[in-house]
Amino acid sequence: MENLTPMMRQYLALKESYKDSILFFRLGDFYEMFFEDALTAARELEITLTGRDCGLPERAPMCGVPYHAADNYIARLIEKGYKVAICEQVEDPSAAKGIVKRDVVRVITPGTLIDPHLLPEKENNYIMSIFFGKSGIGVAFADISTGEIRTTEFFGTKATANLLDELAKVNPKEIIMNDTEYNGVSIEDMIKSFLSTNIYVFDSWAFEDKFAEKRIKDHYKILTLDGLGLIDKHASISATGALLEYLQQTQKNTLDHMNHVRFYASEQYMVLDKFTRRNLELTETMRDKVKKGSLLWVLDRTSTAMGARMLRRWVEEPLRDIEAINTRLAAVDEMKSNIILREDFKELLNQVYDLERLAGRISYGNANGRDLIALKLSLGVLPEIKNILNGIHTEGLKDISRQIDALEDIHHLIHSAIIENPPLGIKEGGLIKDSYHPEIASLREAITNGKTWITNLEHQERKNTGIKSLKISYNKVFGYYIEITKSNIGLVPSHYERKQTLANAERYIIPELKEIESKILGAEEKIVELEYQVFLQIRNVISQHTERIQITALALAQLDALLSFAEVSDKSGYVKPMISEDNRLEIVNGRHPVVERSMSFASFVPNDTLLDTDENRFAIITGPNMAGKSTYMRQVALIVLMAQIGCFVPADQAFIGMVDRIFTRVGASDDLSQGQSTFMVEMSELANILNNATSKSLIILDEIGRGTSTYDGLSIAWAVVEYISNHQNLGARTLFATHYHELTELEGILEGVNNYCISVKEHGDDIIFLRRIIPGGADQSYGIQVAKLAGITDAVITRAKEILRELEVNDINRSKQTKDTTKPAKKKDEQYQLTMFSNPHEDILKELKSIDIINITPMEAMNRLYKLINMMKS
Ligand code: ADP
Repeated sequence: MENLTPMMRQYLALKESYKDSILFFRLGDFYEMFFEDALTAARELEITLTGRDCGLPERAPMCGVPYHAADNYIARLIEKGYKVAICEQVEDPSAAKGIVKRDVVRVITPGTLIDPHLLPEKENNYIMSIFFGKSGIGVAFADISTGEIRTTEFFGTKATANLLDELAKVNPKEIIMNDTEYNGVSIEDMIKSFLSTNIYVFDSWAFEDKFAEKRIKDHYKILTLDGLGLIDKHASISATGALLEYLQQTQKNTLDHMNHVRFYASEQYMVLDKFTRRNLELTETMRDKVKKGSLLWVLDRTSTAMGARMLRRWVEEPLRDIEAINTRLAAVDEMKSNIILREDFKELLNQVYDLERLAGRISYGNANGRDLIALKLSLGVLPEIKNILNGIHTEGLKDISRQIDALEDIHHLIHSAIIENPPLGIKEGGLIKDSYHPEIASLREAITNGKTWITNLEHQERKNTGIKSLKISYNKVFGYYIEITKSNIGLVPSHYERKQTLANAERYIIPELKEIESKILGAEEKIVELEYQVFLQIRNVISQHTERIQITALALAQLDALLSFAEVSDKSGYVKPMISEDNRLEIVNGRHPVVERSMSFASFVPNDTLLDTDENRFAIITGPNMAGKSTYMRQVALIVLMAQIGCFVPADQAFIGMVDRIFTRVGASDDLSQGQSTFMVEMSELANILNNATSKSLIILDEIGRGTSTYDGLSIAWAVVEYISNHQNLGARTLFATHYHELTELEGILEGVNNYCISVKEHGDDIIFLRRIIPGGADQSYGIQVAKLAGITDAVITRAKEILRELEVNDINRSKQTKDTTKPAKKKDEQYQLTMFSNPHEDILKELKSIDIINITPMEAMNRLYKLINMMKS
């Protein structure tokens, strides 16, 4: 250690505190990395690895990136899941005695990005803190670019399942947690198998009740947690406190813009598990993971980034509060019917920048002049927006109007102080208006005067010397000088002092020139420093108003999102759904919002739906492949979801009895990559549904049981229908598409179960899909016809038909044989099938049903029983 150079000693001392980060160590114009960090960074960033003498026998591995291009490299490291600790010089090198003081000024982690070019504009970037306590799980998550922070907690046997649902919704880019095990399960493994994200175990003391509570109180400068709604929410307090501590440690900033923690109960929102989100393609498509083709793609017509983020959140978090839903619907209704109003709003909102993130950067202390101008331009349209909102009737929009603060004082401040087109940097002047600051004005004047004086001097010297090409120029090394070409050297006056010789010219200085130069340069230096200070002051003043800006931003985001709903609802012919607390789900001429959008409007065939928790609990849907079963079922789920986010729906009429959860199990998922068989995945998803659904849930099942042998699959499907449709168990509204035509026999046997099929028309050898859902079961699967439509060659199709015919003939023969009682007994499972799917004891049942037990004598009862036993025997 003694042999190390002082700089290396400084480096290692710092590195000791940031072991889990890559340390970017500022040396001049570079950030350098050493030792292990250098090896990692050289590999990950594909930059050259060199070495540096460090006082040890071997050179320290080193690599570096120029500081002005560092963002790009940092982004790449973050993307790969590393944390980057930025170490800067924290004192002026000229004032330093010995080695310049350096310190880490910020740790950048995947969940704590604020730089606009590292962040997707229309998505939040969340960091989540999870506290696993004895009695429950606390969750807190924050987006530090916008200042949002929310928390909730889960208890009981379903706490872990609830946590996973929350993870699927929030999709955090980084997770910190207090422990690695919970109830004997490795949490890291559990989360990793569920979601690919960066997980760190954080200091357990930070989650301790007392510490966490104090951390929250200190952050919000409050004496009790009452006002935050966190009293007795111990798991939430632990998660939130630790999150604030982690943010403090990494950001080294006051984080004043994170001025509200909002507690929410998960029951406030419709729960959607990971599979359902994926299957319904809410924000991205299943296959390509892109927005185009998702529900969000259809609904998002927002004009601002904050509106887009709000809308995304609404889609991910449908409501369960009827009043809140109706408030949104009423606002959409009013704007839907007023196209001029919408056009006006859109035009104004188009001029609004990302106020949430601007406020974040201002409060954070890294907003530049252009950010303030962007803020000013955004604020400039607020009075007009408020003005239009004044003419509006809906309560929800009036509320929004009340929340919008026109922030005229801030607008005025920026307008009077900041130049319209400021540079990117804030340390090079050109930021502050003359009229705002007299001293800046006079310094600027001095500079301008000085420059005019120099131009005059140039004219005068040309005259005095008779050299027409004489010119006065400036460079950083010599300052101002007089340049004379070689051919005129003979005319140079003797008081010119030569400074530099070039190939075809000489450069001179004279005392008057140097005098004015020092005035100009002095003024320039002063003005740059002064402008910087004035700018910081202004930014500081604005940052005192962060909360006002944030509240306004939130209101604008809501307005933008509602406007977007109104716009799509109008353009796509959606209607206002009637929302109720009962369980009737009735849709007239419903359409699938995404499929309809992807095809020309006229060709989508609308369909009706009727589900309740009574006679129409369970719809069994049959029909050939490609008939439109999945589309239909998803359409129902999407219409319910759209209604509960407060949007109009693609239908002629819709009565939506609110749903607490939507479950979907659609198609065989491709989770093979995770080492589970399709069947296993299918069954665990099914288990999730059966364990968590309630009578208020909507369940969509597509072809469950397909991943195993026919009998197994059919038996499972059968049992599932029985279980779900039964009031004693779930009785939940369910749509179930199946290839097992046997299941259609359940209609009439099980209460509330009804058959539907998607109609097709036979046309000679071919079929035509009519896409209409009608009551009744399908009698054929038309597999060969569908194969033909899919383009299978004629030879295979013809042969398939032959085989099918043979199989059908054999089947008939076999069934004749089974009626022959002289044949040997059937295998056990065949017997089971038989009893399950045909009904050989029909006459016994009939006999049983006909007994009027109240009105017969004991003797007669004995006789009837005897008869029944004999019937059984025969
Ligand atoms: P299934 O689940 O029965 O195999 P899908 O729901 O996947 O069938 O539908 C197959 C295709 O049929 C869809 O990709 C869509 O293009 C089209 N389709 C489905 N329903 C409709 C409809 N109601 N109107 C028009 N086209 C439809």
